[in-house]
Amino acid sequence: MSKKVAIIGGGAAGYFTAINLAESRPELDITIYEGSNKLLAKVLVSGGGRCNVTNRIEDPILLSQKYPRGGLFLESVFNIFGSKETKLWFGERDVPLKTEDDGRVFPASNTSTTIYNCLTRLASQNGVSVRLGKRLTSITQQDEQWALTFKEEQLKCDVLVMATGSNPKVYQMLGNQGIEIVDPLPSLFTFNAKKHHLADLAGLSVPKAFTSIKQIKGSKENGPLLITHWGFSASSVLKLSAWFARDLAHLDYTFTLVINWGAFDRAELKATFQEYTQTKPKDKVYSWKEHNLPKRLWQVLFAESELREYTNWSEIGKKGIERLLNKLCAYEVDIKGKSTFKEEFVTAGGINLEQVDPNTFAVNTHNNLYAVGEVIDIDAVTGGFNFQAAWTGGYLAAKAIAGKA
Ligand SMILES: Cc1cc2nc3c(=O)[nH]c(=O)nc-3n(C[C@H](O)[C@H](O)[C@H](O)COP(=O)(O)OP(=O)(O)OC[C@H]3O[C@@H](n4cnc5c(N)ncnc54)[C@H](O)[C@@H]3O)c2cc1C
Repeated sequence: MSKKVAIIGGGAAGYFTAINLAESRPELDITIYEGSNKLLAKVLVSGGGRCNVTNRIEDPILLSQKYPRGGLFLESVFNIFGSKETKLWFGERDVPLKTEDDGRVFPASNTSTTIYNCLTRLASQNGVSVRLGKRLTSITQQDEQWALTFKEEQLKCDVLVMATGSNPKVYQMLGNQGIEIVDPLPSLFTFNAKKHHLADLAGLSVPKAFTSIKQIKGSKENGPLLITHWGFSASSVLKLSAWFARDLAHLDYTFTLVINWGAFDRAELKATFQEYTQTKPKDKVYSWKEHNLPKRLWQVLFAESELREYTNWSEIGKKGIERLLNKLCAYEVDIKGKSTFKEEFVTAGGINLEQVDPNTFAVNTHNNLYAVGEVIDIDAVTGGFNFQAAWTGGYLAAKAIAGKA
């Protein structure tokens, strides 16, 4: 009798494991059990309905640096299946991809349905069974097999693959088996600052800011920054939320965001201003253009520096220079709370990486148990890196099961 492989979760990681396994071992009895009535739900909504499948970055070291949790774990396996292999994989299966200027890779069709259709078609062509509405409620190891309990059904399998994403009940189920779970926490969120005094500038963005969190030493990110009605968003904020997800949770999402609006070098800028007091004494400070910031933002920062439009460089004084530098390079905003970014979020935490073998994605405390995708303690910043982790895990787990089952 052919060995039975149960894959729990019909998301990106579950499908990728199933297809790669079925392609190399067609005689295995492979079933995806999906708890909801929807397959690949996140694939369909991801990337604004376009599915950002991976990223241009192919170098395993550079790629691994996009993962606040799991980077070191993934570094070596990206040599086996990284973004280069992901692009080849989809290309060989009639899914042309395109790379956008910022490095994100999408299906050339510009719709996530292409990825959905590819994965569901390949699963079906390769004989993978898919059962919807099958929510796993408990697992027990019985000799070399796993006993699975679903609502209204019990069954046994030889190999169990957990591809359930970040589901608290599953974490509890795994915890009951003695598998260590790192507390799940949100990552990739925007910062709330209700009624902040830049709200009138909502919609305005700067292309390159430095952002940091006053209460977290060494926290510093760069990238675009967007002012919204309710707070601050865009990549420089999302990166802070991902890299400091745990520290921010400890601060109960109440902290001071420090903004350097133009990624200025404060010491250099100070020297420039001091020089202007000598070389351009009669020029108005307000007319200084080299800040390259949007005019409305400059007006607000200038006014908050308590300078007058008629103040010239000879009148600004040391204190005036410091006030202007503070507004330009260390603007402080009180943050209270967080919001999701375009409904996109990931979870930091999950199965402790010390219990997972990076070469096989096997859970090393239990026989015939594998874990792939967001269920393990791996997450990334935005840019297609989270799906990349799901493809990498799925591919390696499939390869390991194929070689063993
Ligand atoms: C709106 C949104 C947009 C995103 N966009 C991008 C993007 O463009 N690029 C990117 O890289 N990442 C993106 N992400 C993150 C990415 O979607 C996830 O990292 C990825 O989907 C994880 O895949 P997964 O298969 O591990 O988990 P999931 O996709 O969450 O799939 C897990 C599946 O398991 C099922 N399940 C859970 N518990 C049980 C159970 N007990 N029994 C049976 N089934 C169960 C769930 O119903 C689900 O279908 C986005 C996330 C969101 C929310």
